[in-house]
Amino acid sequence: MVKTVAVVGAGASGLAAIKCCVDEGLEPTCFERSEDIGGLWRYKDNPEDGRASIYKSVIINTSKEMSCFSDFPIPDDFPNYMHNSKIMEYFRMYAQNFSLMKYIQFKTTVCSITKSLDFPTSGQWIVTIEKDGKQNKSVFDSILICSGHHTFPHLPLTSFPGIETFKGQYMHSRDYKGPEDFKNKRVLVIGIGNSGGDIAVELSRIAKQVFLSTRRGAWIVNRVSKNGYPLDILKSRFVYLLNKALPSSLTNYMAENAVNQRFNHDNYGLLPTHRFYSQHPTLNDELPNRIISGQVKIKCNVKEFRENDVVFEDGTEEKDIDMVIFATGYSFSFPCDESVLTVTENKVSLYKYVFPPRLEKNTLALIGLIQPLGAIMPISELQGRLATRVFKGLVRLPAAQTMIHDVAQKRQKMECRYVRSQRHTIQVDYVDYMDELASLLGVKPSLFQLFMTDPKLALKVLFGPCTPYQYRLMGPGKWSGARAAIMTQHDRIIKPTKTRALNKPSGDKSLLHFIQLCTMLILLVAFFPPLLKMLNIFSI
Ligand code: NAP
Repeated sequence: MVKTVAVVGAGASGLAAIKCCVDEGLEPTCFERSEDIGGLWRYKDNPEDGRASIYKSVIINTSKEMSCFSDFPIPDDFPNYMHNSKIMEYFRMYAQNFSLMKYIQFKTTVCSITKSLDFPTSGQWIVTIEKDGKQNKSVFDSILICSGHHTFPHLPLTSFPGIETFKGQYMHSRDYKGPEDFKNKRVLVIGIGNSGGDIAVELSRIAKQVFLSTRRGAWIVNRVSKNGYPLDILKSRFVYLLNKALPSSLTNYMAENAVNQRFNHDNYGLLPTHRFYSQHPTLNDELPNRIISGQVKIKCNVKEFRENDVVFEDGTEEKDIDMVIFATGYSFSFPCDESVLTVTENKVSLYKYVFPPRLEKNTLALIGLIQPLGAIMPISELQGRLATRVFKGLVRLPAAQTMIHDVAQKRQKMECRYVRSQRHTIQVDYVDYMDELASLLGVKPSLFQLFMTDPKLALKVLFGPCTPYQYRLMGPGKWSGARAAIMTQHDRIIKPTKTRALNKPSGDKSLLHFIQLCTMLILLVAFFPPLLKMLNIFSI
């Protein structure tokens, strides 16, 4: 009999999860609280209860070749870093291409997910949904929770003495939509995650003055990297392996050195005491420009609020602050009872960040509950591929004790590497984590096999960007278009910026070749005089 799966949420993870179910011959029913797909990425002018909310200008900070679903490349003319409206366009194309819409019940809220009475034998779940004010219960064989982790604002007002006496306005970044209301105001933004950085930069063009407060500083990374390529495509499997082989003090030093070359973090008031890889990165190409032009001033943590002013921990004071934005991150929770999932300060025990390890039957999985150094969409998709194979009994998870041990080990590693903060509880490195999931699923690309059968492709896989197509080259879910997608990924990267036809002077190349030849000759003369002597070039 075909197994039924309840998918909670029709955002990026939910869409991928529906497709994974269909691919595996399962029967998905997706419950989406709002009236449309897209989750976090669907911009609305007003924040809605129970749904993530973004500002109008949000541009994703992972590039399109790294962010796409693995069997559906993002069109070549789409920009490398997409505005949220472009991401929505891609989701709609994906949903249409794989006919996913028919599985989604909109305006339907999942109120609770509980084990059925015979759960230890059946592994089934009772899902209570609410639609048009009426509640209904249904039984499902499995559950994929894809409801995201940026819905509930973390607003730590108790850490900010005097906030109750502050006469200006304050809000969480979740409620920030655009800069219009901030014209000529003196604004304080608290928190230097990606929201805080983006908002401070955007407001600095219209506000009288923006202050950006950070309790520990941050390393600021550029989206646009060497030769104008997107940052994330530069980290190939090879570079990744090399980085892992080097001591972390060295890789940290190299990264810190690289970002300091652009601007000195000390001089810009941003230098943290922690190392580069100990914090979730803040990507912001514009922040240093706004700081050097005085429109954004970096401040340390707030000590207290007064009626109109703010006092900082270094004793400095800023008068007449009109508005404060708490860009202090998010908390998450799920509609399951505590015996299934408990979340404490954003910590949750999940094997591979997907499976609750203590269930009698592995019939529930969380998709997209992850904060990667890298793109999240392909991760959600691979988690969905794994979960659906587990539901079908085609992949067996280890015993509970082994999973619990793995969870504990991962947590310990994370706590050692990252500074203590509730934003660092679900961190993963993209390649490591994708490979880990792929190994369980049997889709990790075998470099040996590739070098034996298709060396050209093998070179791309090893030295090119670790794009999601790599996980469609072999094993279950293999896609016949994966090779072509990898071989053409570079074309799709450069196409959207090459928008002007160039008439290159024909001499350009020969000059370049001449310079290359001269350089090679100089190197030869410098490094191989004995060889040159042997060849009698300098013989008298
Ligand atoms: P976040 O990454 O959790 O950052 C929260 C910031 O607030 C951190 O600087 C944190 O400092 C600070 N903070 C938290 N509690 C505080 C307290 N009590 N006192 C002082 N500071 C406090 O939140 P976010 O920036 O909203 O980002 C959420 C997620 O969305 C991230 O994954 C981010 O990458 C993503 N995002 C992406 C984009 C984009 O793609 N363009 C834009 C925005 C956000 P500590 O580090 O000291 O804890």
